[in-house]
Formats: sequence, C-alpha cells, structure tokens
Amino acid sequence: KIYHDEDADVNIVRSKTVAFIGYGNQGRAQALNLRDSGVTNIIIGNIDDDYAKQAREDGFNPISIEEAVSQGDILMLLIPDEDQQTVWNEKIRKNIKPNSTLVVASGYNIAFNLLDLPDDMDAVMVAPRMIGAGVRDRYVQNIPYPCFVSVEKDVSGAALATCLSIACAIGATRGNGAVGSSCREEAGIDLFAEQALWPEIMAIFREGYNVLREAGFSDEAILFDMYLSKEPAEIFERAADEGFVKQLKYHSRTSQYGQLSTMNRNDGNEIREKFRRVLNDNILSGNFAKKWSDTKWAAEELAKEWKEVEKAPIVQADQRVRDVLKPDRKK
Ligand code: NDP
Repeated sequence: KIYHDEDADVNIVRSKTVAFIGYGNQGRAQALNLRDSGVTNIIIGNIDDDYAKQAREDGFNPISIEEAVSQGDILMLLIPDEDQQTVWNEKIRKNIKPNSTLVVASGYNIAFNLLDLPDDMDAVMVAPRMIGAGVRDRYVQNIPYPCFVSVEKDVSGAALATCLSIACAIGATRGNGAVGSSCREEAGIDLFAEQALWPEIMAIFREGYNVLREAGFSDEAILFDMYLSKEPAEIFERAADEGFVKQLKYHSRTSQYGQLSTMNRNDGNEIREKFRRVLNDNILSGNFAKKWSDTKWAAEELAKEWKEVEKAPIVQADQRVRDVLKPDRKK
C-alpha cells in the first residue's frame, strides 16, 4: 500500500504537542520540516550540549528529555537505535503522558520488543529512507523522497491518521508517496542487507583481490579496476535509474556476455541457504537483537571485528595504494 498527500490530514499533528527525543540527523531535519508545515508546539528534549546549541540556533528551546516526554502528545524517538532501550527505561517510560503516540524512524526496537510500551500508547513508524540532511533539503526544495510507514499499536483507533499526518508534515507522502510497511519488515530487510547481502559482496571483492594478486597482478591495477575508479557506484546508480539488468547495455558486448552467462548458470542454491539461515535464525528469531542489547558485549565484539579485518590482504593493499595517491583520495 502506498500513501499520498491526499490520504493525510496535516491538521492532526498541528493540533498536538510534538516532543523530539534527540536532535541529531533525523531529529533536526524532521523538527524543522514539521515547523515549516505549521506545527507550532514542538519541544526538543536533549542534554545541554552541541545538539542543544544547534536547536537553540534553530529557534527552539531545548529542555530535558524527561520534561519533553511529559509534555508530548507525540514522541519522536530520534536517538541512535542502540541507545533507545536504555534511554526509554531510564528517562522516558515513567514520564509518558497518557494516550500519547510513539513515533520511531526505524523498526528495530519495536520489531524486537525492546521498548516496554504503556497499554494506552499508540506506536507508529515513519522511517525516511534518506539521511537527515536529505529529508530537510528535499522538503525545502519540494522534492519527494522514499519513506516507510506503519502502525504497530493502535489503541486510540487513530494511529494511522496520526502516522500519515506526521509523514505528510515531514514531506514523506509527496510524489510517489510513503510505502506501507512494518517494523518487522523494515528492520528485517535492513539487518539482512547488513548481515547477508553486503558482507557477501565485500567477501567477493576480498577474494577477487586475493585471486588476482596470486596471479601476480599489481595492487593498483586490481583496486582501480575493482572499486577505486568508482565504477561500482556508477553501476548501482544506473541500476537504480534504469533497471537492475538494463544497465548492462552500457557495458561492452563481451562484458554483457560474461556477466549474463555466468550469472544465469549460478543456481544460487548455496547462497540462498546461507541467506535463509541468517534471516531466520539470526535476525527474525530476535537472537541478534538480544545479543546486541548487551552494550558491553557489543562494543567488545565490534572492536574485535575491526582488529580482525585489518589482517585482510585487500585492506593492507588499499592502504598501500592510498598512500601513493593524491591527498584528496587518502581519507
Ligand atoms: P543521531 O546519531 O544523529 O542522534 C543524535 C541525537 O541522539 C542527539 O540529539 C543525541 O543527543 C541523542 N543521543 C545519542 N545518544 C543518546 C543517549 N544515550 N541518550 C540520550 N540522547 C542520546 O541519530 P540519527 O538521527 O541518525 O538516528 C535517529 C533515528 O533515526 C534512529 O532510529 C535511526 O535508525 C533513524 N534513521 C536514521 C537515518 C540516518 O540517515 N541517520 C535514516 C533513517 C532513519 P546527546 O548526544 O546530546 O545526548
């Protein structure tokens, strides 16, 4: 289901007090968009630091998270996903106003039941598929951007109307409209990309490097051909604009034949089985979320993985090649 501007009544959110928990990438962009859409009662909850300073420069008057929560009819939970459960338990849960609505911008914490919602609270998702700066710039320039929306808990019977009102006020129902989804679907696809798709793609590049290097080819030649030229970025851009396989028409006939004949003969059985295991056993089962909630364990594991990846020959080659490149490519 796709929702457009005409499905939404922006007056609903205009009549509410909207409390932002967090004024970072998404928080700032969404607060400015709501204000420009005529929402007058916006409260920013943040400790007094650089984010609060930014909020003051933007004409808001930031207060503590606890106070903001206690005044909000709508709570925009826009702090990093990994901090939400702790902040919810320590600062939010006991201050929530009766009959309010929680809005999340990513499905993770609701999908895996990490937030203990009061019985009378509605919960919805308005999840832009776009960085905060993009959410703001596109709103100002009146350009549509993709967004997922969903109703997760509807006690009042008005959760969908509230959800669409917010989506419309941040500019997410323009153009092609906002895609009806769910927290489970949004989080599932997101984690699948992070734990199945992209690691596999990175491993393919790693092994590609290893095999080409074994053949005696140079670091520079291999890495420029594989990604330093930015060719993969261009291929994906054309895939998005013109079609996943239609972009092949920009490649030579030899390249088209090589890619199609090899891909068509790859039955994908092995990778499909592996992907299913990751999706079902690790992600949808909640096993990953459970482990990742242990913040001490999570920080240690992430540090270990960073240490481990430094050993991969492609990472060392990348550094060697970067060291001889011009300064602007060294980052
Ligand atoms: P940011 O990292 O930009 O959030 C920073 C804000 O969160 C600041 O206000 C910061 O305040 C606050 N914050 C961070 N840690 C804590 C804490 N422990 N306690 C209280 N406040 C804290 O987050 P994003 O805007 O990137 O993400 C917010 C939500 O939006 C997430 O659910 C994310 O998945 C989603 N999202 C993000 C997108 C993106 O491109 N960034 C795209 C789509 C959705 P302070 O440090 O002062 O406490």
